[in-house]
Amino acid sequence: MKILGKYSIGLGDRFGRQGSAQLKAIIAASEKGYDITPVWNKSNREHITIGTQPADVRIEADFVTNKAGFKSPYFVDADHINFDTVDRFISCSDFFTIDVASYIGKKASDEEINEFIAGVEKYTGELKITGSKLSFKTSQSHIREIAEKYLFAAIKAFDIYRKIEKIKGKGNFVTEVSMDEVPHSQTPVELFFILKMLANENIPVQTIAPKFSGRFNKGVDYVGDPKLFAREFESDLIIIDFAIKEFGLPENLKMSIHSGSDKFAIYPYIGSIIKRSDKGIHLKTAGTTWLEEVIGLAGSGGEALDFVKEIYSKSLEKIDELCAPYADVIDIKVSSLPSINEVSKWTSHKFSDSLRHITGNPDYNPNMRQLIHVAYKIAALNMNDYLRLLETNEETVSACVYENIYNRHICRLFDIN
Ligand SMILES: [Zn+2]
Repeated sequence: MKILGKYSIGLGDRFGRQGSAQLKAIIAASEKGYDITPVWNKSNREHITIGTQPADVRIEADFVTNKAGFKSPYFVDADHINFDTVDRFISCSDFFTIDVASYIGKKASDEEINEFIAGVEKYTGELKITGSKLSFKTSQSHIREIAEKYLFAAIKAFDIYRKIEKIKGKGNFVTEVSMDEVPHSQTPVELFFILKMLANENIPVQTIAPKFSGRFNKGVDYVGDPKLFAREFESDLIIIDFAIKEFGLPENLKMSIHSGSDKFAIYPYIGSIIKRSDKGIHLKTAGTTWLEEVIGLAGSGGEALDFVKEIYSKSLEKIDELCAPYADVIDIKVSSLPSINEVSKWTSHKFSDSLRHITGNPDYNPNMRQLIHVAYKIAALNMNDYLRLLETNEETVSACVYENIYNRHICRLFDIN
């Protein structure tokens, strides 16, 4: 059976050129005593925007792994797939993020709902988590509400799981279930009953990605109270532990945080809680590698700087079109975006500093960062020039990619100095 390690990180690489730089960060962490399993992910949306195939991710992952002589396990994640989009991912992936967000809120049949409620009778009234101080009040009507909201999604998750299993064979892939791309967060009690539903459906889920409270905007820091997040996160971990024992879910089932990258404010909390409770984690960092490419090109000056200035100017022109698919996960204050004219006069330094996620830097502009984050389509429209410039400036670009994953993500999460 394919088992995901205790610590794993989802690495995204939209244009498929930064595999080695990202793997170097994983290797640096292992030299510090943290074995992290790299999980190469790319969503269907990104493939469509750029014009790549899921198999390209596999080719890149295999290539950089061999080149680095990396001997530990790694996975290729079919990220946020559903019943309709999974097919072309099946042969080349061995990790599947089954996205049930679009099924949440649709009702299963009365018969299915009643059967579920009857099966969880012992948790009605009070849900006591043995071995912890946690306990939650529940009622039959509350459980019914949860079942009406989530049971259909769990049944759908099984349909997708079965579709994959039929081709790949049982135990030959890692299953994640994600529910993060929805407007409302899930409470620990909801998570408990959702896990019961997944167990009833016999889905060997190894990672679960709930939606937490607070805002997880793409590429910028967490918006919300980190202490509140920490309490929620810790309760969820206890719930997962209890659910493993109660429902016979895989022993290594762990939390997956779909962070949208760069949630630096909550990393120290996540890090200290998993350390204290000896738990694993899957952290999806995804698309900020593309931002590091832009930062690296800006830093290279000359034609590369002109190219990224052009990307910015086109992204301002097409701002509505670029932002539309990401409306729920970005929050751009348009009045804080610099004008095209202003940016045209910027130096390498000024451009890089505006984008690089260093909150203490007065030039850092999270609004511009979010806009460029969703503007990769503009580079894809001029692919030949973009890839040529990445190649010419490879050293500067890959240094930015490495520094981002290693220093800003891994070191912060695991408190490595
Ligand atoms: Zn997600």
